[in-house]
Amino acid sequence: MIGTPWSDRSVVVTGGTRGIGRGIAELFARRGAAVLLTGRDEVVAREVAAELVRATGGRVDGLGVDLRAPASVEAMAAEAERRHGHIDILCANAGIFPEKPLREMTAADIDEVLAVNLRGSILSVRACLPAMERAGRGRVVLTSSITGPTTGYTGWSHYGASKAGQLGFLRGAALELAPLGITVNAVLPGNVRTEGLDALGEDYLRRMAASIPLGRLGETTDVAHAVAFLASDEAAFITGQTLTIDGGQTVPESLDALALTLVPAAVSG
Ligand code: NAP
Repeated sequence: MIGTPWSDRSVVVTGGTRGIGRGIAELFARRGAAVLLTGRDEVVAREVAAELVRATGGRVDGLGVDLRAPASVEAMAAEAERRHGHIDILCANAGIFPEKPLREMTAADIDEVLAVNLRGSILSVRACLPAMERAGRGRVVLTSSITGPTTGYTGWSHYGASKAGQLGFLRGAALELAPLGITVNAVLPGNVRTEGLDALGEDYLRRMAASIPLGRLGETTDVAHAVAFLASDEAAFITGQTLTIDGGQTVPESLDALALTLVPAAVSG
């Protein structure tokens, strides 16, 4: 058969109240999947779900889930299965990226970033695993980052560690879950226009846009389409892999190489 029967798919999207996660939830809803999106605040999650139902005509529920609390993550999986009967796709997307120079970083700062980004991703997969096992198939798509796996950034060393850590987890999980018909892959976004990125300020956004060969910041839909591909039936033979969505930001090997890319575009524009 050609094409994924999206209307048969049940999708959990963590961190779906804003930004990339909201974009992922919206795309799956437009395709007809049943979506459960989460954020820490139940009221906000439900409001966003209602907005997406109005915008897409799809099936979207919202649930309050704190990824730092294992019981809350377990409840997320139980609720998704209760509402939709099964879980086919988990988008472990929620993450935080507080800036903190290493010199000022406390143990609590490190714990917070690792708890949400790394431990939260692992807990989410573990919680959804029994439902996927029962379904006899599954797709896990982690939202990692170029920061950590591919690049580094001053002020985000703990964040980079959490995002690189996700890929260590990804490879072990991909092997462990392959016999169950469950694939585990990750998207590595570059700089994508979200509320979280906007909070870093205009100066940051301008500098980042200037370092992207394709000449613009990413949109949440750019990431959502890559996630949907990795979650599709067509991606059945792909596991343990990463897909970078960064407008070519990590490609130039020097500032010269970047300048040579951007100047002709600026002239023709
Ligand atoms: P965002 O706009 O700040 O949204 C973050 C989402 O995570 C929100 O829905 C938030 O929900 C949720 N969240 C935060 N802490 C949580 C917790 N303890 N428990 C449950 N949910 C929590 O971020 P974004 O820019 O869309 O980023 C989404 C993911 O993409 C992150 O993993 C980030 O590292 C990654 N990423 C982003 C970029 C980028 O340029 N934007 C680049 C590379 C990677 P509530 O606030 O409602 O709880």
